[in-house]
Amino acid sequence: MYDSIIIGCGFAGAVLARELAEKGNQKVLIIEQRDHIGGNAYDVLDVHGILIHQYGPHIFHTNSQKVFEYLSRFTKWYDYSHEVVGNVYGKIIPVPFNLNTLNLVYGEEKGNILKDKLVTTYGMESRVPILELKNNKDPDIKAIADYVYENIFLKYTMKQWGQTPEEIDPSVTSRVPVLISYDNRYFQDKYQGMPLDGYTVLFENLLDHENITVKLDTKVNNIADIPEAKNIIYTGPIDELFDCKYGRLPYRSLNFVFENYKEESYQSHAVVNYTVTEDYTRITEFKKLTDQHSDSTTIVKEYPIPYTGADGEIPYYSIINEENLALYEKYKELLKDKNIHLLGRLAEYKYYNMDAITLKALELADELLK
Ligand code: FAD
Ligand code: UDP
Repeated sequence: MYDSIIIGCGFAGAVLARELAEKGNQKVLIIEQRDHIGGNAYDVLDVHGILIHQYGPHIFHTNSQKVFEYLSRFTKWYDYSHEVVGNVYGKIIPVPFNLNTLNLVYGEEKGNILKDKLVTTYGMESRVPILELKNNKDPDIKAIADYVYENIFLKYTMKQWGQTPEEIDPSVTSRVPVLISYDNRYFQDKYQGMPLDGYTVLFENLLDHENITVKLDTKVNNIADIPEAKNIIYTGPIDELFDCKYGRLPYRSLNFVFENYKEESYQSHAVVNYTVTEDYTRITEFKKLTDQHSDSTTIVKEYPIPYTGADGEIPYYSIINEENLALYEKYKELLKDKNIHLLGRLAEYKYYNMDAITLKALELADELLK
């Protein structure tokens, strides 16, 4: 009855479904375990009338014109540039650490001398991963690196991953490099913004096609649950297809604690990272992401927790290391002769942003429709 069956209705599943339905004129069924579409990008009005992101703050950013133009078919954008500050023992500083942060920490006079040294060494507008900066032998640069490491990375990373920055994959801390620039934005991508009517509406528009059927509240428990079809695409965790028979793939999870305050504004920026104190990593104030107006405000605190696979726990971040990638490959071997494509941050065990997975979904659609 269906040409393609897709398990999971996040960006991976929804973009792929649209492409197969529209370009390939295929009948597509999406099976989703949750009671809503959108995967982790899902947003919804809370009881106070504030649009919140149920699974943590999602800010769209990309350098891919293709992805931006594609998604722009399904949403208009609120022109939002994301700026984050760190709370360092009560002192508020721009994060990523940049030349403005340098001046705040060292004062303008010393900051300008240090700036010249950084610019001569790395070049203006360069992005230097903290672990690379830490290797610099120059005593001044080493002192800056030590400050950034101690006050921005070490404790936040310990909270988030339960490991030090050296112990986790370097690609993770490189996401937030030291910026030799006066740009206070968290992302330097060419296109950034928030879907004007929210992510859920973007997904409703993506899925609004006569060839697409979405079945919610339906979990695929293992590989035997997947119905037959010409194309099968799985966007969930690969180990669960095989009852985790080699052991669970490790993930980090988060406990989101939402609070509402009867005041117009809670904090200076949409996101404040608590880089040294508190058990949570960051506080997001949703109104400020999307310019909402209301006499109350909703925030969320993110408490990182290990993922055990218990009911209700969500695997958010794959833990990239050699051992876990080897385990992932072992599961992938089991699919060798099967007609099942893996797509998405869970199924591919990758740390994908929304734009990257949108691009992967467009590419897989092209391949399947060849
Ligand atoms: P998901 O969104 O996780 O969707 C997978 C879907 O499959 C889910 O709905 C799940 O319920 C369903 N599913 C899984 N297994 C089964 C099964 N067995 N049966 C039925 N259904 C199943 N990216 C950005 O670009 N910008 C950001 O600011 C950003 N912030 C983030 C903040 C947090 C806290 C997190 C965790 C991620 C963030 N991301 C951000 C990443 C973004 O969430 C992902 O890129 C995106 O969600 C990936 O889409 P996906 O479809 O691969 O996965
Ligand atoms: N990080 C940090 N301090 C910060 C921001 C980020 O130590 O203030 C590190 C931390 O290890 C984190 C990683 O950089 O997991 C990537 O940060 P990002 O903000 O990209 O994480 P995400 O939004 O994906 O949770």
